Amino acid sequence: MSTSPEYDVIVVGARCAGAASAMLLARQGHRVLMIDHARFPSDVRLSTHLLWHSGVDLLAKWGVLDALRATGCPELTRFKLDMGELVLRGAPPDTRVGAAMAPRRIVLDQVLIDAARDAGAELREGVMLEDVLQEGGRVVGIQGRLDDGSPFEARARIVVGADGTHSRVARCVAAESYHTFPKEAGAFNTFSYFSGIALDGVEFYSRPERMVYAWETHDGQAVIGIIQPGHAPRVGRDEIEQDFMGQMTAMVPDLAQRLRAARREADWVTVGVGTGCRQASGPGWALVGDAGVTVDPITAAGITNALRDADLLAELVHEGLSGQRPLDAALADYGPRRDATAVPLHLFAQEMAKLSPPTEEVIGLFVALAGNQSQIDRYFGLFGQTVTPSAFFDPANVEAILKAAQPAAMAN
Ligand SMILES: Cc1cc2nc3c(=O)[nH]c(=O)nc-3n(C[C@H](O)[C@H](O)[C@H](O)COP(=O)(O)OP(=O)(O)OC[C@H]3O[C@@H](n4cnc5c(N)ncnc54)[C@H](O)[C@@H]3O)c2cc1C
Repeated sequence: MSTSPEYDVIVVGARCAGAASAMLLARQGHRVLMIDHARFPSDVRLSTHLLWHSGVDLLAKWGVLDALRATGCPELTRFKLDMGELVLRGAPPDTRVGAAMAPRRIVLDQVLIDAARDAGAELREGVMLEDVLQEGGRVVGIQGRLDDGSPFEARARIVVGADGTHSRVARCVAAESYHTFPKEAGAFNTFSYFSGIALDGVEFYSRPERMVYAWETHDGQAVIGIIQPGHAPRVGRDEIEQDFMGQMTAMVPDLAQRLRAARREADWVTVGVGTGCRQASGPGWALVGDAGVTVDPITAAGITNALRDADLLAELVHEGLSGQRPLDAALADYGPRRDATAVPLHLFAQEMAKLSPPTEEVIGLFVALAGNQSQIDRYFGLFGQTVTPSAFFDPANVEAILKAAQPAAMAN
């Protein structure tokens, strides 16, 4: 026999996707429970933290950006893509705040959790979800265990899985997967944190089969890494430093020199990830953040994606819970609307992650971009998520870039 649920929404996972969803739904007056097996504040090691412009804009829209600024997180406003002979400098257009940020996750996730709790959401830490409760083919709650092994059970009208790429909620509801790629098809990332290094804004270096990146995070530290194809040979743990500095010296001697004068503040992280999309929702459940769409880290889009999808999901769940339309009808819109934005970004990242040599066409496009500041800014907007891949690579836009370059080339 079903009992009436004590919550409207249970959110499993209380980091960027989960805490943002919980905050937005609690602000609409819904009774929200967040659970997580972690205890907060809690860090995430597998992240380089970059939150692009559209993500920062969402924090501003939600009124939580000032709380993040108050933690001393620098705003990143200058972007450089060095391709060897060609260097592009610019920044994404059409943004509200006009900056990216790279907050440590122990800070960003906590800012969102605090905002969710301020809005009335309840947080239960140290709770491991084991299964969802189902009645008549519908998810009606969760069951799991507390740290001490005792059972935990709670019911809600909807369960939101914000429990990351290995989502247990997704497994429990048998969510279908699509556009999946094994980690060997993606990029392999090696990075650490450094202090005492001056950066020229956000630095990207595109080199044969490699991408090098560097940006500032909290505490005067920089996240600096090398991305290589997932199939590239790996070195042993005790050779990482030597290999990293050797590659850096060969590819970007200036950054290597700055690194030699800097101090490494943490262990090396080396990681590759499998990626893909999962069915976004079903009766009484939905997935958000990496649980729903995991994107290759090469475009550093995961957190921005998580915030955007949380915003969309919360809007639709609110429509359902407030009786504007049936909950299932509202949820049915979530997948197509999420995927209209997320799938092109995922496939774009996956293509970049191959780190294949650029085609003649791509080289021609980059050469044509030189000196065309508004289009360079639009290119950076692909990453800042203020310009879509379909808009930038639209044949009419590509033609406009090539055409604008012709008079300049003739004048030279
Ligand atoms: C190497 C690397 C670098 C990256 N760099 C960037 C970057 O620079 N910028 C960017 O935007 N993205 C980056 N990402 C991606 C980004 O880290 C993810 O997109 C982001 O963490 C997704 O957030 P989330 O809230 O969906 O899930 P997560 O951050 O994974 O949080 C999931 C939460 O669910 C909880 N949980 C899981 N299972 C259970 C369970 N059974 N019961 C209870 N709780 C549970 C976990 O404890 C965790 O707190 C990177 C990823 C990698 C691997």
